Amino acid sequence: MRIVTWNINGIRTFRWGIKKTLDSLDADIICVQETKVTRDLLDERTAIIDGYNSYFSFSRGRSGYSGVATYCKDSATPFAAEEGLTGLLTNREGAIGCYGNQSAFTDEELQLLDNEGRAVITQHRVQCSDKVQTVCVMNVYCPRADPEKPERKQFKLQFYKLLQGRAEAMLKKGSSVIVLGDVNTSHRPIDHCDPNEIDDFEDNPGRKWLNGFLRDEKASADFSHSGKFVDTFRYFHPTRACAFTCWSTLTGARRTNYGTRIDYIFADNQLAEEQFVAADIMPEVEGSDHCPVWGVLRCSLLPSSKPPPLATCYLPEFAGKQQKLSRFLVKVDQKSCRTEEALPGSQEEGERRENINLSGTKRTMSTESVHQTGKKAKTIKTSSKPQGNLLAFFKPKNEKSLGFSPNSLKGSPVKGEPIELTPAVASQLCSTTQEGQWEAPAEHLSAHPSNPRGNKGASLHFWKSVLHGPPPPPTCKLHGEPCVLRTVKKEGPNVGRQFFVCARPQGHAANPEARCNFFAWVDRGK
Ligand code: ZN
Repeated sequence: MRIVTWNINGIRTFRWGIKKTLDSLDADIICVQETKVTRDLLDERTAIIDGYNSYFSFSRGRSGYSGVATYCKDSATPFAAEEGLTGLLTNREGAIGCYGNQSAFTDEELQLLDNEGRAVITQHRVQCSDKVQTVCVMNVYCPRADPEKPERKQFKLQFYKLLQGRAEAMLKKGSSVIVLGDVNTSHRPIDHCDPNEIDDFEDNPGRKWLNGFLRDEKASADFSHSGKFVDTFRYFHPTRACAFTCWSTLTGARRTNYGTRIDYIFADNQLAEEQFVAADIMPEVEGSDHCPVWGVLRCSLLPSSKPPPLATCYLPEFAGKQQKLSRFLVKVDQKSCRTEEALPGSQEEGERRENINLSGTKRTMSTESVHQTGKKAKTIKTSSKPQGNLLAFFKPKNEKSLGFSPNSLKGSPVKGEPIELTPAVASQLCSTTQEGQWEAPAEHLSAHPSNPRGNKGASLHFWKSVLHGPPPPPTCKLHGEPCVLRTVKKEGPNVGRQFFVCARPQGHAANPEARCNFFAWVDRGK
């Protein structure tokens, strides 16, 4: 039995098709977090995957936020499945039960903790040598404590407490338990790229919770007072350093492996010792700001003959579709375009539907007609070896936003000194991003009103003829390379001010390949 967890940072990470991605991960149970799929956005393409059954939890608040999903191969169909940790989201048919003691929480707290689509639990049966055993798989996306929102710290800790209570309750009832997902806390200094930079590393309440939840491998053979779960990666690799699963895209830190290990597969002590044979991370798989993590167990899964009521195939809009589609769809010739792999909710979805005619037979679109649909509908070359070639399909999502490309600016860089940019010019150079304090000025030449569609050649022409091109950035002292322009997004006296920093990705201070400390404010020219 093989199990995978991955924070995919949006289901669109599966850009070349959900089935192909799932197949490439080659696991019986694949748990993904941060799907950013809410109930209003769930479409058939995401919910109904040939060969799998799926279970989603949705955020009830913001659309397109949070969310987890568990995809099980048909040979790993669970016997029960539940959304959330509290039991409040479950109609009791097909539920797992064992909610533990929830008296520490108010009804409102319980409701809020399950309101963001952060947990799905599936219950499986496995054959362990001569006995059949129950395993509960808890797929969780634990909250992140935004330093600017102190109330979220408390929320995060409450989520941990609820998770532990539920996991231990199921364990007590005799089931084996796997807790996996994005836990959003790196456990020990070895799991962090720069623990010395963190104030009171060990005092972080999330770390303290992990210390209690997990068994302390160093605390000799007496486990009676320590945690009931094992971090399976550490179990197999107790001293491996620089094994990270998450990197900031804002600073390009993946290129210098300046990250943290916050994605885990935890197993109860007995299951880890008796059934786990290996566990590892997959830092080579790109596409998200996190990488997948896998574990392999000795036991084999015994599937249920039909999926439990939470399965997406029973949702009213999809009910029965799986059978119908597979009966009617004709396999498209490999050489023709693979529009069936298009993104959920994308333009191609509508086109695909149009191409299923009344008798249900799919027409093959010519390559020409695909080109007309725009950039997204690229023809996907099919490989003769569909598995094990995952890497070839993933490209870093944020490469473009790492900074503006020095190569696209003509003229020799001004050495050292901060340069002058008028606000008008500077505002043309920057775009805004939602998430960061700083913005990466990608597509810097594309914003002029005379050129709203961002045609680079035309913009460049505009700059050259009217303004003789934007001023070149200064070069950093250490690398002698053109800097990138950024804007202060953090509220405070400097909000909106622009500055130049080294264009290299963020990394350890001792790493000469990483960002140097060059910094220069942009003079506003007032
Ligand atoms: Zn530099």
